[in-house]
Amino acid sequence: MQLKASCHCGRTQFEVSEAPASVTRCTCSYCAKSGGLWAYYKPEQFRLTSPAENVATYLWNTFTVKHRFCATCGCTTYGESPDFSSGEPDFDNPKIGVNARLFDDFDLDAVPVQVIDCRNLW
Ligand SMILES: [Zn+2]
Repeated sequence: MQLKASCHCGRTQFEVSEAPASVTRCTCSYCAKSGGLWAYYKPEQFRLTSPAENVATYLWNTFTVKHRFCATCGCTTYGESPDFSSGEPDFDNPKIGVNARLFDDFDLDAVPVQVIDCRNLW
């Protein structure tokens, strides 16, 4: 089931190929303040459907993760990063974390939230 997502003002819109089975709440300093609940996809499962110039990017720390947000309304939208599941960045295996709070017509309360303790892991 394809899912559509949009930021508050609608200038950032994207689609993913399927609904997430769970979402991730991360404790890192960025996620704790920006408040996203993350669903992870391969790049080919994600499609930005609004103009790329509406997307702003925040880089910090090692600049490994591109944190995207709406240039107009400021909503946290998605992030592009290498896969970190082994603990090291795997640049051959990029992934997109999308903020599941932006999904339209999706019952976010129906999926479990997994907490990853990045503040202390990384
Ligand atoms: Zn917006």
